[in-house]
Amino acid sequence: MNFNLKPVFFFCSILFLVTCQSQTVKALESKSQKIVNDTTFVNLKNYSNDFVYDMKYANSDNFLKAKVYDCAECFLRFKTVKALIAANDSFIKMGHKIKLFDCYRPLDIQKKMWKIVPNSSYVADPSKGSIHNRGGAVDITLVDATGKELDMGTPFDFFGLEAAHNYPNFPQEIKDKRELLKTVMMENGFNIFDSEWWHYNLKSALNDKVSNTKWKCD
Ligand SMILES: [Zn+2]
Repeated sequence: MNFNLKPVFFFCSILFLVTCQSQTVKALESKSQKIVNDTTFVNLKNYSNDFVYDMKYANSDNFLKAKVYDCAECFLRFKTVKALIAANDSFIKMGHKIKLFDCYRPLDIQKKMWKIVPNSSYVADPSKGSIHNRGGAVDITLVDATGKELDMGTPFDFFGLEAAHNYPNFPQEIKDKRELLKTVMMENGFNIFDSEWWHYNLKSALNDKVSNTKWKCD
């Protein structure tokens, strides 16, 4: 019996190897031509090199005075990435670029922030979750051709009336810069957040699920 089974075993092993190999090739092929769903989380840098990054919560240069991300990455749902790249393309034609301060924020990070500052005037309550937790929000400003930030009247995460879109007491120059940021972002599917000039929500992401998907750090 053993003698008779040997060639069968050998044949099966070869068949397994061939099948296995062809499956690997197929997996690689499908990966290179992968169709990404709009709600899949992706890393912005894999789709564009035209953004400037200053991920404030990946170091302690923020109002929490705490580093809450292990590493600085800008993950967003794919549809947010597409809309953001379209907006940035418009800004680039005008000699500007988008600079990013924050993108998708996993729910555990939101909880961490809430633990440091449990005040819903400054941090979204993790029991409700924010659009950042849904992968549809970005905190941004604009830089000029030299990389210098345009004057938007207040820094990022300034908590005061001056950060509101409709704050009336700025010179026209500052109002115009905020208006430019707002106009192009809205043309590309984003909504403003009245009290923070830097925060934009992708309209089509408002009802996506809060997520705790995390990215790997090297
Ligand atoms: Zn924000």
